Amino acid sequence: MKPLEINIEKIARLAEQREDENYRFRVFLKGQEDDKIDIMVHKMDKEIRSQIDCKECGNCCIHLHPSVTDEEIETLSRLDHHTPIEYVAKNIVNDNSENMKYLKDTPCKYLHDKKCSIYLERPEDCKSYPHTQNDHFIHRTYSMIDNYGICPIVFNLFEQLKMELKFKK
Ligand code: SF4
Ligand code: SF4
Repeated sequence: MKPLEINIEKIARLAEQREDENYRFRVFLKGQEDDKIDIMVHKMDKEIRSQIDCKECGNCCIHLHPSVTDEEIETLSRLDHHTPIEYVAKNIVNDNSENMKYLKDTPCKYLHDKKCSIYLERPEDCKSYPHTQNDHFIHRTYSMIDNYGICPIVFNLFEQLKMELKFKK
């Protein structure tokens, strides 16, 4: 395996430069077998994660708005010593078209020194990010392209997949 790229400034720059290429790769992936790609992705994901320390990165917590359920809002408001109503008014943004709620601030207010200060009680969306361990990768490539310039796991996974599938850049 090639050495991993973990420089987040470089990754953000390459994401801009490779936007067209990544959309072409997305179309290419659509023509592949779902199961076969999942097997490859899960194997690569495991190898890449074993070499990347999220505690030294925290870039997703700087740029993204994780979704939160009503139950999670109750937990977070308790941690912040607010009522859920006060908590929502200060910290939550609604997407009514999707009926979803998200943490409002970027960087996330719970991020301190690249680490999550509520790690054990962080929302499920944070726990499962960058979602590369989930099935049906080829049906989630839009969000992977969005995350390619943010998360080194996604960046390296996409690049290794291009190489293994002999995708013409
Ligand atoms: S709650 Fe924690 S893991 Fe989630 S975005 Fe905020 S700092 Fe990151
Ligand atoms: S999930 Fe990705 S962006 Fe978030 S801390 Fe880990 S490597 Fe960095």
